[in-house]
Amino acid sequence: MKTIDLVVPCYNEEEVLSVFYEETSKVVNQISNYQFHYILVDDGSRDKTLTVMQELASRHSEITYLSFSRNFGKESAMYAGLKHSIGDYVIVMDADLQHPPTMIPDMIQGIEEGYDCVAARRSNRNGESPIRSFFSRQFYKLSNHMSDVKMAYGAVDFRMMTRQMVDSILELSEVQRFSKGIFMWVGYNTKWIPYENVERTLGTTKWNFWSLFKYAVDGITSFSVAPLHMVSGMGFIISIIAFIYIIVTLIQTLCFGIAVPGYVTTLCAVLFLGGIIEFSIGILGEYISRIYMETKDRPIYIIKTSNLKEIKKSSEQDK
Ligand code: UDP
Ligand code: MG
Repeated sequence: MKTIDLVVPCYNEEEVLSVFYEETSKVVNQISNYQFHYILVDDGSRDKTLTVMQELASRHSEITYLSFSRNFGKESAMYAGLKHSIGDYVIVMDADLQHPPTMIPDMIQGIEEGYDCVAARRSNRNGESPIRSFFSRQFYKLSNHMSDVKMAYGAVDFRMMTRQMVDSILELSEVQRFSKGIFMWVGYNTKWIPYENVERTLGTTKWNFWSLFKYAVDGITSFSVAPLHMVSGMGFIISIIAFIYIIVTLIQTLCFGIAVPGYVTTLCAVLFLGGIIEFSIGILGEYISRIYMETKDRPIYIIKTSNLKEIKKSSEQDK
């Protein structure tokens, strides 16, 4: 019998976790020719998520839980889950029931049709503020314009993958992970299945505007160096304009002598160039900070407790 691992990142999900387990179990218990296993990853929750997990794991043998030493972020939690998965297939899904477990049979069907991956895609953005939807759309446009890795609009981190694809994903061991891009980067055939976005009913979302903005910058810088080309392009164009301006000024000065006024021109040039230089250094800085963090080669997560049988002693800092 083939096995499927359900990887579920959880951060402060005490209210919803047992409901999630019940709802998902109802669906997977109906599927007879696959064996399911849960990998619940507690991403350093500050509430009783871990207690709920331990309690569930003590009652149900098909649950493995990993608990981080602090909050490492959803990307790290997903990575840890994938790293500890051993099933023939892996499904990644959120704990907040925004990813309907009722889609699992459709996903399995897609895999049986021969796809390497079946991913859910939101067909609407109900329950999301219009501002967030607007910026989200702009992000996809900008990012797809600049990068060779095209990200699917409305794609969510709810997908079923073959072992082979999971192994490919794990080969990308960068510390600053951007899964939406990584899933696309590894390639393979993906079947998209649309679903109606459901509002979160229990618990709260972990995103705010600033974290989404940083996420967008991460997305662009992880998969594209177009901003760097933009900086050199901008420098080139400005140099040409400056050169033409110098020639014109020189000719003017030679023919008509020095005209003293020039305050406005000087001021504009200094401020404009100052702005452009600061902006360009900022873009370089974004990339350098990422190189810096990558070269440190720190672990992506640290497991504090888990019910893994063969857990390695103190060096649970898988990498
Ligand atoms: N999550 C996590 N670590 C974090 C933030 C979120 O593991 O630092 C988990 C969270 O518990 C949930 C999933 O990632 O299972 C999606 O989070 P959320 O619902 O807040 O995001 P949204 O659905 O609004 O994109
Ligand atoms: Mg959610």
